[in-house]
Amino acid sequence: MSENWYKKSYRRCLVDMHIEDWNAGFLQRLEPETYVRNLKTAHVKTAMVYANSHVGYCYWPTRSGAVHKGTNGCDILGGILSRCKKENMDTVVYYSLIYNNWAYEQHPDWRILNIDGQASRDAGAKHFFMKGRYGLCCPNNEKYRAFIKTQIEELCRNYEFDGLFFDMTFWPAICFCPACRARYQMEVGGEIPEVIDWSDGVWSAFQKKREAWISEFAATTAAMARQAKPGVTVEHTCATIHFPYLLGTAAGNPAASDYAGGDFYGGFMQQSFICKLYSSMTRNQPFEYMTSRCDPSLKDHTTMKSGDVLALHGFLALAHNGAFLAIDAIDPDGSQNEEVYRVIGEAFSAMEPFEQEAGGRLCADVAIYLSLSSKYYMQDNGKHIRDSKEISDTSTDLDYLDAPVSAARTLKEAHIPFAVIARSNINELEPFQVLIVPGAREVDSTEVEAFRTFVRNGGSLYLSGMVSPKLLEGVFGVRVIGETIEKLTYISPCGEGAKIFSRVRPNYPLTMFSSQILAEGCAEDEVIARIVLPLTDPAEPGRFVSIHSNPPQKDSGFPAIIKKKYGKGTVVWSAAALETAVQAPHREAFVRLIQTLCLSPLVFETNAHPSIELTLFDQPEKSRYLLNLVNLQELLPAIPIWGIDVSLRLDGWDPVRIVRISDGAVLSHHMEAGRVCFRTDLTGLFEMIAIEREKTVTTERII
Ligand SMILES: [Zn+2]
Repeated sequence: MSENWYKKSYRRCLVDMHIEDWNAGFLQRLEPETYVRNLKTAHVKTAMVYANSHVGYCYWPTRSGAVHKGTNGCDILGGILSRCKKENMDTVVYYSLIYNNWAYEQHPDWRILNIDGQASRDAGAKHFFMKGRYGLCCPNNEKYRAFIKTQIEELCRNYEFDGLFFDMTFWPAICFCPACRARYQMEVGGEIPEVIDWSDGVWSAFQKKREAWISEFAATTAAMARQAKPGVTVEHTCATIHFPYLLGTAAGNPAASDYAGGDFYGGFMQQSFICKLYSSMTRNQPFEYMTSRCDPSLKDHTTMKSGDVLALHGFLALAHNGAFLAIDAIDPDGSQNEEVYRVIGEAFSAMEPFEQEAGGRLCADVAIYLSLSSKYYMQDNGKHIRDSKEISDTSTDLDYLDAPVSAARTLKEAHIPFAVIARSNINELEPFQVLIVPGAREVDSTEVEAFRTFVRNGGSLYLSGMVSPKLLEGVFGVRVIGETIEKLTYISPCGEGAKIFSRVRPNYPLTMFSSQILAEGCAEDEVIARIVLPLTDPAEPGRFVSIHSNPPQKDSGFPAIIKKKYGKGTVVWSAAALETAVQAPHREAFVRLIQTLCLSPLVFETNAHPSIELTLFDQPEKSRYLLNLVNLQELLPAIPIWGIDVSLRLDGWDPVRIVRISDGAVLSHHMEAGRVCFRTDLTGLFEMIAIEREKTVTTERII
């Protein structure tokens, strides 16, 4: 077993096997030798192999659970693991927690129960994330925990493998089972609250408790594995970290894992955002980005992504120093489509030459802060749980993510170097010039103090939308008194804003298809934009000005954007989340505002086409920077891009040599205003450029 296997593993593969066993034909053609031969065809470095699935049956001859009948008494898991080892692949064992139909059916007392006492497979059951087919067991149930422990010990003691992956470590419902009620009674006292009220300490504390319980469950199962097999790596899925509070996942899963990882099916912009979040939250690099070879997700078993699309997933992960895990799904009879592995092989072999170059620290001037405690829907506030929004795997409307992901898209396309961080990085704000904190409705005192210190020391803080009074009153000195009744409003620049947003004409302000927060108490010279409204309420059909639109006509007297000094730094608050607007002038205004807040030159600048994503890593052990360019064009094959100019802030270094990794070409460069400038082309999907450096003589003399 190699403890640090993951540090050199960027090409990983998992074959989903969530197959039932009520038909004698199921999995009859599953054959470890063919399985591993396919992985070899696909150039896989690390194989993740099923020990069980959500269906609950085991793929090894277990004594504690039920063996899948389709195995015909063969040790499928053992057969695959030993063959992978012979082929020099690392091996990770997949184990499904909480989602276990067999355990659910065999042990009704282990089930997660909703407020009405319904379990997830009951007809008409409500308020479960994934239900009907899925049997859910409660992680607070001690008997279920004992069962898991036995299974983990069986696996760890009887098989050789390098890592364990635990799937589904989250709350698929607010559980009212006897175990949860008893634990709440013991640790908090009284009954579990039933009314959603985020202004009420009892409800917020209950949600913190649910997070703590799932974090404790993640840590406990990780400890079970590490105790039974010292040196084994553990990964709990982090795929739901950005999901609503209902799922109860925040920082506990990455904290219990050796590296962060999870599966996503939302396209390249989502991947870019998640890769940055994982890159900052993971305890060790590389993190792991998983997605399916099925397009767009595993719900479509037969539609296959092209080699180019799979390669782009791999390159985008690699551009963030992340591993890429491709997920295939087995056919019901256990056969696999060899073509799938040939196509994955195309993608993986394209990644291979770049892998040994990856690594280092992401360089960024701006950080988007994802508030993991603000993941809730305001429209549910004050409602009983029974009347709250239904959340299922097919309708996860994550509106609180609109602002951070839109901000990320705009920064990416404007080539402003940025990172995505969360509370676990709260003590690592210092390298950034600007911190963007959208929709931070819930913040704790540690976060408030960290933000204040960051700004006092010269940083810039951008807040938007409904923000905790701890920040708005504490930092800006303004008080929220409500929000506009109009859901169509305008942002009209004034004062210093007229200069920042010079392309917005005063009589044609920026349209926002949302209400804006009304706040009072700021000085007139701190207002850089005002809220302008239509003459009539757009929701009122009887009385209007212009039948199709609601033109701006009325100054509300309230600020739309406030900008003020705080300590050595600057704070900005936008009453609407300007960054969510998709219109080009709005996005340009947001970029202008963020550029104004960056007081030092950016770490890199480029004229590259907006479809190209650039990331920069500092690799001090190799005395170089590494620049990644990913050609994320919407339609493939990608059109080659010629003549991309890049300049880099060198922070006291002298460039020695600039090498393009794909062909080893040495690129000519020159210095301009303390920056190294060079030109490259991007003829394929991906490129890496190494900027080798040495300490400048003058700097050494000063030191
Ligand atoms: Zn429970």
